[in-house]
Amino acid sequence: MQFDLTDEERMIQEMAAKFALRELRPKAAELDRTKDRTILLGNLKKLAELGFMGLNLRAEYGGAETTTVAFSLAMTELGKGCASTTVTTSVTNMVGQVIQSVGNEAQRRQYLPPLCSGAYAAGGFGLTEATAGSDPAGMRTTARLDGDHWRLNGRKIFISSGEFAGVFVVWAVTDKEAPKGRGISVFLVEPGFPGFAVGKNEPKMGQHGSPTNELILEDCRVPKENLLGELNGGFRLALSELAGGRLGIGSMALGIGLGAMDYAKNYAKERVQFGQAIAQFQAIQWMIANRYTELEAARLLLLQAAHLKDQGKSFSKEASMAKLYATEAANRACYDAVQILGGYGYSQEYPVERLARDVRVTTIYEGTSEIQRMIIARELLR
Ligand SMILES: Cc1cc2nc3c(=O)[nH]c(=O)nc-3n(C[C@H](O)[C@H](O)[C@H](O)COP(=O)(O)OP(=O)(O)OC[C@H]3O[C@@H](n4cnc5c(N)ncnc54)[C@H](O)[C@@H]3O)c2cc1C
Repeated sequence: MQFDLTDEERMIQEMAAKFALRELRPKAAELDRTKDRTILLGNLKKLAELGFMGLNLRAEYGGAETTTVAFSLAMTELGKGCASTTVTTSVTNMVGQVIQSVGNEAQRRQYLPPLCSGAYAAGGFGLTEATAGSDPAGMRTTARLDGDHWRLNGRKIFISSGEFAGVFVVWAVTDKEAPKGRGISVFLVEPGFPGFAVGKNEPKMGQHGSPTNELILEDCRVPKENLLGELNGGFRLALSELAGGRLGIGSMALGIGLGAMDYAKNYAKERVQFGQAIAQFQAIQWMIANRYTELEAARLLLLQAAHLKDQGKSFSKEASMAKLYATEAANRACYDAVQILGGYGYSQEYPVERLARDVRVTTIYEGTSEIQRMIIARELLR
């Protein structure tokens, strides 16, 4: 593992930090409260202009062609500013990666430039179903070839940016007789295709600025050439691409945790009780020391996994370890940040209340902590 960042990685980290401070943080509370899409879409547009929507995509498709390490650093800095915007950015990057890694040249040329430029506000990842969450191979959505089109039927739930994504990668069963997980394929689906509809917007605990929708596919007509990758090869692809996505979620969680602890640390220096700043109390000092130590460990795990990916080495176990540890450490950090602020931590007048809600889902989506442990154990016991 190499610890030095390149000049480019440092530049991207700084750019993301500045953007989070100037553009995201001032509007994050309002976005959470009002769910005003114009705020989110404005943030996404500016991020696309700065190259953040295709950080690891090749320049010929409009991408920034930078490293996974830079992607991780960027998601952490953006995560300090606004989780709703950051998760949308992270998922959009993941969708671009799926298309770049298995798409043919025509598919890449059609779908990647608008994802990178912001012509598409976001990309959508359509895997989860009501009865298939941690076990996506149990999905029921089907795709049947009918002449020069596929007909997709089923419902996806919890799809980030369902309301406004310009393109979705959608998984469906193409061979019902195949052993579990072997008969699933992926399709490029545009919201304008006949038979595609967006369902309800999930009312959530946090990340209110980012819509999470149901997708309804009723005889949805998808051109034959929009099959992505190999027929019946989709499930393996989902697993491998999710490993990269997990680095995005873990990195964002780290940013949320750091944002909460940075606020709490400064607060502890100002807040006076019993005639002294609460930062003088050992109980508060230990919370600060423990949480920053864990967040630093999380950062190293994330960078190690990102570095392995950049080297073209196997990184799935390390990505799961990094996601597991970073999201749980970030949850503990937000929990303690609320504690350090006392009653003010519980008040919506202070940002840690929102951060504590926003961070909660990071141990759930893109694979729960339990699923990460299963992946890690499977690799260790192999
Ligand atoms: C805000 C939000 C955004 C999302 N965005 C997307 C998106 O863009 N695209 C998408 O496809 N999905 C998305 N998801 C779905 C998300 O990935 C799933 O919610 C997640 O994978 C868990 O699935 P589930 O909710 O069905 O929980 P379940 O799978 O029902 O799990 C319930 C509990 O059982 C545990 N469990 C399950 N199986 C096992 C096991 N074998 N061993 C031990 N414990 C187990 C889980 O860890 C969990 O604690 C999103 C979810 C949320 C909340």
